Amino acid sequence: MPELPDLEYILPRLREPLVGKQLEKIEIFEPVVYRNLTGLQDWNPELVTSVFRRGPFLVLELEQTHLVIHPMLAGRFAFNGKKKAATAIRFAFSDFYLDFIDDKKMGKVYRARKEQLDQIPGYKKQGVDLLSKEFTEEYFRKQAAKYRKQARVFLMDQSILSAIGNAYADEILFEAMIHPKTRMNQLTEEQILGLYRAIGIVLRESIRTIEEQKPELDQKYREHVKVRNRKDQPCPRCGSRIRRANVLGYDSFFCPTCQPDGGRGFVDWSSLEKRDGGS
Ligand SMILES: [Zn+2]
Repeated sequence: MPELPDLEYILPRLREPLVGKQLEKIEIFEPVVYRNLTGLQDWNPELVTSVFRRGPFLVLELEQTHLVIHPMLAGRFAFNGKKKAATAIRFAFSDFYLDFIDDKKMGKVYRARKEQLDQIPGYKKQGVDLLSKEFTEEYFRKQAAKYRKQARVFLMDQSILSAIGNAYADEILFEAMIHPKTRMNQLTEEQILGLYRAIGIVLRESIRTIEEQKPELDQKYREHVKVRNRKDQPCPRCGSRIRRANVLGYDSFFCPTCQPDGGRGFVDWSSLEKRDGGS
């Protein structure tokens, strides 16, 4: 999915061309991607008044309604592109258009009135924004203290920490040198602080790198990742071979040397998964 650094890159690139422009119409090519909560059947041209991000949602605020885009796994954007098989929705302005493209058709575009935003699944429940002042060490410690599941599951819990997905969860654990299966209640005070700091370091460095690389809007830039999808490649810190493990149904990549299991026996992955399942 586009994760927080990807969304931070996309956001100003939507905001700049869209704000102050009139959205003339929307064309829906994939009805499964569109949810209209307003009851309004027709589209009346509306001015885009602002574009903002709430966790993984990108929101176009219009004069009367909001368009809330949840890109999920594969949603992406392109200006004035040729219509592709995966083009789900086209936002047409007077002299250009923006396409929302979704190869997996798992993303959603909601049309909602302001008072209906809380009806959008996951919108209200978002955890703290990791780039905001509210993401304090105190908040992090408090949330970590009540959590029993694995560190990787914690990082991806959108109701606590907003907009970290598979890629950056792996990168953050690598930075913090924590094994992805370590349970939150097994972390030392020092490790919890390290994990908190790693979130800031990885996200900010990634945002900077993506900004420098300037990928096309519909390309997800991931060249800079150190462990994600790098199975059997050498760890950039110690040279050990990166491994892949399954953590509650998700592939996780880590360095077995930098991120030791602390002698808890996370060695036999297959038997561990059975024992560990669903917890
Ligand atoms: Zn290593």
